[in-house]
Amino acid sequence: MRDRITHHLTDGLIMGYAAGTLPEAFDLVVASHISMCDECRARLAAYDAVGGAVIDSTEGAELAEDSFASTLRLIEAEKAAEPPAPSWGGIAAGGVLPAPVQAYVGGDVDAVKWRRLGGGVFDSVIRTSDGEATARLLRIAPGKAVPDHGHEGSELTLVLQGAFSDAAGRFGPGDVEVATEEVEHTPIAEEGDVCICLAAMDHPLKFSKFLPRLAQKVMRI
Ligand SMILES: [Zn+2]
Repeated sequence: MRDRITHHLTDGLIMGYAAGTLPEAFDLVVASHISMCDECRARLAAYDAVGGAVIDSTEGAELAEDSFASTLRLIEAEKAAEPPAPSWGGIAAGGVLPAPVQAYVGGDVDAVKWRRLGGGVFDSVIRTSDGEATARLLRIAPGKAVPDHGHEGSELTLVLQGAFSDAAGRFGPGDVEVATEEVEHTPIAEEGDVCICLAAMDHPLKFSKFLPRLAQKVMRI
C-alpha cells in the first residue's frame, strides 16, 4: 500500500504549471507529482477551468480575415519542426519512475546512469532544453544523508521510492518538498528501501560542507 501523500504542490506551482510559465525542470516535477497525487490533479483541473473561463469571457477582438487559416498553418509548421512531445500520462505500471520521467530517461530506474557523489549518494542529471533550471534524480542509501546545503534559488524534491526526513518533516513516496533560499537542510534517507527522488532547482546548490566550490563547478551541481 502506498503511503498517504501529505506534502503537496504550492498554489503558485500549480498555477505556473497551468499557465505554462515554469522552467521545464519544474514542469517535470509538477507533472510527476500530479501523476501520483489525485488531490493535486483535481487542483490543477480547477485552475485549468479558471483559465478556460477567462478565455471564454474575454471580449473577442477583430482579427485579420485570414488569421484563422494562417494560425493553422503556423501550428502545422511547428508540428513538423518539433520532435513529438513526451507522453505525460499516469505512472508506469510497476515502475519506480513516473511516466513523465521515464520519457526523459528512456526507461525505468535500470536505465538510469548514476554518478557517485560519495557517502552512499548518487545522482543522474536529466537533460532539459531551456537551461533555466536543472533536473536530476537522486539515489540515497538507507540511513545516509544528502550533504547539508543551502539554495541560491528554489528546489523541488519529489520522493519516488523510500522516504527521507529533514527539518521540514518526513517525506514518503509522492511527497514533494518545496525548499526556498532561506532553507538549509540535511535530508536523511529512512532505513528500508533505497530512497529515490526527483529534484529540480533553479540555481546551483550551495553545498556548505560537502564539496569545495571548485568541485561544485567541475560536477556542475
Ligand atoms: Zn499533491
